[in-house]
Amino acid sequence: MEQPIVIIGAGQTAATAIETLRREGYAGPLTLVGEENELPYARPPLSKKFLAGDFEHDRLLLKQASFYDSHGVTLALGRRATGLDLAARAVTLDDGRVLGYAKLLIATGAAPRHVAVPGHDLAGIHYLRSTADVARLRPALVPGARIVIIGAGYIGLEVAATCRKLGLEVDVLEMAERVMNRVVAPEVSAFYAAAHAHEGVRIHTGRLLASFTGDASGRVTAVHSLDGATWPVDLVIVGVGALPVTEPAEAAGIATENGIAVDLQCRTSDPHVWAAGDCVSQTSVHYGRRIRLESVDNAFEQAKTAAQSMLGRDVTHDRIPWFWSDQYDIKLLIVGLNLDYDHGVLRGDPATRSFSYCYLRGSQLLAVDCVNNSRDYIAAKKLILERVALSPERLADPTVALRDAVA
Ligand SMILES: Cc1cc2nc3c(=O)[nH]c(=O)nc-3n(C[C@H](O)[C@H](O)[C@H](O)COP(=O)(O)OP(=O)(O)OC[C@H]3O[C@@H](n4cnc5c(N)ncnc54)[C@H](O)[C@@H]3O)c2cc1C
Repeated sequence: MEQPIVIIGAGQTAATAIETLRREGYAGPLTLVGEENELPYARPPLSKKFLAGDFEHDRLLLKQASFYDSHGVTLALGRRATGLDLAARAVTLDDGRVLGYAKLLIATGAAPRHVAVPGHDLAGIHYLRSTADVARLRPALVPGARIVIIGAGYIGLEVAATCRKLGLEVDVLEMAERVMNRVVAPEVSAFYAAAHAHEGVRIHTGRLLASFTGDASGRVTAVHSLDGATWPVDLVIVGVGALPVTEPAEAAGIATENGIAVDLQCRTSDPHVWAAGDCVSQTSVHYGRRIRLESVDNAFEQAKTAAQSMLGRDVTHDRIPWFWSDQYDIKLLIVGLNLDYDHGVLRGDPATRSFSYCYLRGSQLLAVDCVNNSRDYIAAKKLILERVALSPERLADPTVALRDAVA
């Protein structure tokens, strides 16, 4: 009989790994451990259509229950892996069960970064990562309710767009001087800030969260910033980033470096353990540094690599990453990473709501933000991959197709 494989964490990574393992011919015992009492599901709709109530729960599922049945997967859902013994090759669950493995895949994802200011534990302050979070949040999303969103990153702004659609009064507090400042250029930030203002979202940049205060029942009633401003609220959503979930791997002695450190085959520092998805950091072949990504595409690609590597296939993860964000009718597709870019080129007029922003180092394209512009997105992937030298003049001319902007 083939040796058992155990997967810890039942998200996008796990679902893809299961499919790959079986497709590649692994016929042995396969157990999936997940602390949420849910089959693996897609998280992106949680800040978009599912939050708005426009999306049935079943449509979130990455695979229906019958898939796990027909693929011979033993499910241990609603169960947390609490311990890992590398020498004994065994995982302990929170119900005391011990699962032996020959090979282990860690796919524990990421968890919201929490704020620790006074009043942080008042009722009505929410985080958004799971369907359970949405279930807690939804009853409060009623027309006219006043919400303050802490953080103007993707999740904060997607939630802002959804809440406006639902008729809430929306304020967003951001400590940086512009929205999405960690991921996009100032020109793209300005476009998004204007789009949200147009929809009636009030964005307050350069504001550091100081505290929350509440009423006698322990419910949040106000948000305070360090410069003395106050916003009365009915609810708060905090979206200030996520941290990799490295336990129980780290406690067991597996090396970490801003996440579980893996090589290009998604192998950890232990020869019997692989890891993939939001919980890992990996050296990027294209960008020459160790990075941790939080995206569906990354989880999907790393899961495939990890599963194939677990079966002894000669594979390397070397894909150009991509990411999307939906806010109102604006689809942002980001291909590549703009790390260390030295200049940017705007293609098209943001006023048309369809444009791109190209990030370059010298004449080499590193990344492109495509706003309602999927044509550039397709060409960008190829140009980044092939490290083609580009002409800034041709790049800046939106009538020249991106693929023809070669120097
Ligand atoms: C609201 C929201 C919107 C998003 N929107 C987008 C988007 O538009 N585009 C995009 O590309 N990406 C988006 N993402 C990111 C994307 O969803 C993640 O990158 C992806 O889910 C990562 O998959 P994963 O399997 O690595 O981790 P996860 O999906 O986090 O799954 C990990 C699972 O492991 C479980 N777990 C953790 N520790 C243990 C343990 N000890 N024992 C058992 N189980 C454990 C967790 O509970 C979780 O269920 C979004 C994320 C969120 C939260």
